[in-house]
Amino acid sequence: MEHKALNPRLAVYPGTFDPLTKGHLSITSRGLMIFDRVILAVAKSTPKKTLFTVEERVELAREVFREQPNVLVEPFDGLLIDYVTRRGAGAVLRGLRAVSDFEYEFQMALMNRRLARDIQTVFLMTDYKWMYLSSTIVKEVACHGGNVKGLVPDEVVSPLYARCVARAREGA
Ligand code: ADP
Repeated sequence: MEHKALNPRLAVYPGTFDPLTKGHLSITSRGLMIFDRVILAVAKSTPKKTLFTVEERVELAREVFREQPNVLVEPFDGLLIDYVTRRGAGAVLRGLRAVSDFEYEFQMALMNRRLARDIQTVFLMTDYKWMYLSSTIVKEVACHGGNVKGLVPDEVVSPLYARCVARAREGA
């Protein structure tokens, strides 16, 4: 593979973001205290069945970060480390919540290090306010009619309820 110099000031923050939550926002903004730019990389294919398509997840995230030129939102597919190398980023940014995240994240970080030794994985501990927040729980609550305002960016609230309704109709 052609060797491109990696930019240590550029990080890729990968995830499903189905949908983006305040926890993701916190990791992104705190990531920007370390890195000059963060690419929020939205995974196309994921083992989880998503509520939003990848195009919708990208569009929503772009809307949320529209006034932050140092956050670039892009879809990605395939091996994360190939994407990170193509983008010339020196780091992968991930968030850590409870102990339950740790094992999976550790496994991924070690595998990614084996695949590309020059790329470092950087973990930021969650803000305690978002410790128990996940896209999964937000979807569960929203689709049962609960209030998720304050847990997700404002731009996400209406599309989330609309998608829950559409899904309930599909299932009916
Ligand atoms: P994935 O499907 O890769 O876990 P997610 O979109 O669920 O993607 O999460 C992307 C990253 O953001 C992961 O590193 C995850 O640990 C982190 N993350 C998710 N929710 C929070 C939160 N509430 N606080 C901090 N980090 C979080």
